[in-house]
Amino acid sequence: RAKLDGRNSYAFYTESLTKESIEHLKLQSALHDALDKKNFHLVYQPKLDFVTMKTTGFEALLRWRDPVLGNVSPAKFIPIAEKIGLINDIGLWVLKEACQQGVKWISQGKKIGRIAVNVAGPQLQRTSFVDEVKLVLEETGLPASALELEVTESFMMSDPEVVIRDLQRLGEMGIELSIDDFGTGYSSLSYLKKLPIHKLKLDQSFVRDLPMDHDNAAIAKAVIALGQALNLKVVAEGVETEAQAEFLRESGCNEAQGYLYSKPRLPEALKDFL
Ligand code: C2E
Ligand code: MG
Ligand code: MG
Ligand code: MG
Repeated sequence: RAKLDGRNSYAFYTESLTKESIEHLKLQSALHDALDKKNFHLVYQPKLDFVTMKTTGFEALLRWRDPVLGNVSPAKFIPIAEKIGLINDIGLWVLKEACQQGVKWISQGKKIGRIAVNVAGPQLQRTSFVDEVKLVLEETGLPASALELEVTESFMMSDPEVVIRDLQRLGEMGIELSIDDFGTGYSSLSYLKKLPIHKLKLDQSFVRDLPMDHDNAAIAKAVIALGQALNLKVVAEGVETEAQAEFLRESGCNEAQGYLYSKPRLPEALKDFL
């Protein structure tokens, strides 16, 4: 891009090096050091069964605190990590860390259900992904029955058949598989039928303003009905109010996750849910 093409190059640089792209570059270079410098940690958010209100598991969520940049949201840095090829290393670290925490809780006699780990699109595309997961389970000692992987619909965009085969293998190991942010991506319903998955996570954008928002109410009900028809559990994300919870429970949604119950917390702060 630095190629000089006469007078236009000057215009190019002044236009492109905006405040935003400078911030982006700073984030990029800080991300390169973040793993080595141990600037990542995980927080966990409980998921609850809508009928019994018992904990069914915890979603592990990545946090990055940079000494200079401060706390950076994963919504911001995960896409950058994907773009610059760091997501595989980061994702593997998250998986190990979450599995270790699961083993720690189990060894303390806690019932944890499943620990859910988010998997980014590029991780799933790797041919070694299934073996990496297997190895982490072996090394940490977490039973596959205590792990859930959350994938997004983005993998549908390229080579879905290969990914479907890998998901199949992961499912056969006893790992539970869910589609995250369901309804916001590219799932075609014909693929959904073929996918070896167990759960749909209704995206929080559809949970907002339930039950007043009629469009969201219709979408939530439709996703729940789809889940029931395909024998998949449906989990609602971003549940913040009793009114939302009541509507979702009455509509047959299986599980809930959201600030109404708990925000994501450090492991020590989750005693009430274990
Ligand atoms: P996600 O996997 O859909 O995770 C749910 C997000 O919703 C989390 O944001 C969580 O803190 C937030 N949330 C939970 N309950 C509520 C609620 O009641 N209200 C609202 N407004 N928000 C709620 P977070 O932790 O900022 O993560 C954002 C996204 O970043 C995640 O969305 C996921 O896509 C990605 N992410 C986070 N950690 C990882 C990771 O370890 N690996 C990968 N690949 N992606 C990650
Ligand atoms: Mg998730
Ligand atoms: Mg989600
Ligand atoms: Mg989401």
